[in-house]
Amino acid sequence: MDINLGNTSSLRLLNLYKVVSLLYQAGSMTQAQIKTESGLSGPTVIQCIQHFKEKGAFYEGKALASSGGRKPTLICFDYNYRYAVGVEIRRHHVDISIMNLKGECIASRTERLIFEQSREHLQAIGRIIDELIAQNVDPKKVLGIMVAFPGEVSLDRSEITRSTIFGMHSVNLDRFKKEFRYPIMIENGANAAGFGAVFKDKNLADTVYIVVTDNGIAGSVVINKKVYRGNSGKAGAFGHIQLDSNGRQCSCGQKGCWSVCCSVASLTGDEDTNLKDFFARVDNHDEEAVNALDQYIKYMAQGIACAHLAFDTDVMIGGKIVPYLEKYQDQLRKAVFEYSVLKDESFNINLDLTSNSPMSEGAALMIVADYMENGIFTE
Ligand SMILES: [Zn+2]
Repeated sequence: MDINLGNTSSLRLLNLYKVVSLLYQAGSMTQAQIKTESGLSGPTVIQCIQHFKEKGAFYEGKALASSGGRKPTLICFDYNYRYAVGVEIRRHHVDISIMNLKGECIASRTERLIFEQSREHLQAIGRIIDELIAQNVDPKKVLGIMVAFPGEVSLDRSEITRSTIFGMHSVNLDRFKKEFRYPIMIENGANAAGFGAVFKDKNLADTVYIVVTDNGIAGSVVINKKVYRGNSGKAGAFGHIQLDSNGRQCSCGQKGCWSVCCSVASLTGDEDTNLKDFFARVDNHDEEAVNALDQYIKYMAQGIACAHLAFDTDVMIGGKIVPYLEKYQDQLRKAVFEYSVLKDESFNINLDLTSNSPMSEGAALMIVADYMENGIFTE
């Protein structure tokens, strides 16, 4: 939040910020607790509470037992006061998540929808979103839509600069805006997922985030709870690190990129992936599947080692494969620390198990974070 302390209204904004931040973190507090923790005067605290009550962001909870005198009541933050929508656009599907201000997923849907560069495609996505909103939340409470896209997005996020998966260049966001009835923004899918993971974990500030998608590997770097974007918005494009110069052809033109070595399709052998069947074959000791998984884990370890060497942070893996990888976490860890340069190192390789759809949820959470920093004071 930008605050100029030179005038009274800015001071009022700072007071509101203190009160709303406290209550947002705690969920509920008494007036006296807010006063003590904010260091503000009683009348200022009352004014701030009143402000957010009138807007509908705070409500009065139950009265607590009193040790004499008037019973104190709890002031509560209404996490369902606003919602944000995240959409992940994939080649064969779209994933949609509606998140509340606490970062809880209120509703989600995965729908089969083959990607094409057309108005009809965007309109179809718009219809699914409208339906999901209408069935689950008050449309008036929806702040907007953040699209998590598998491609590079300009620094000002007004343009998809390149998507190798979809063969797209320089697509302006205006093409999207016309087809949706809510404010719409766009973000690189891996940035959204990385941001979401750090947003949800109070103890995590820095991470390299690796998303395993059907067709490849996408990555992001989150430093001090903010996405690190680099000079042109491309930071974290780990998917095109070459792991095997004799490997399979990647969509970028090079052979053996991390993306082709570790996509979901590299295991299932099909772009229309079925992980359940693949891991059932592994469980039944199907030799081909077991060997494919062993090679996959070696490649994944190689990529993780590179990413860690570049940023010296923990590494988190997300995507639909993660619940299946949980069983092989020790094997993966062992393979990473077999690299001689990492032998004496210690860092965490986390699996993002909190989310079914890290990209769409993370995208929505970017709207939530911005709202709590700015929007709640200006609407
Ligand atoms: Zn590549």
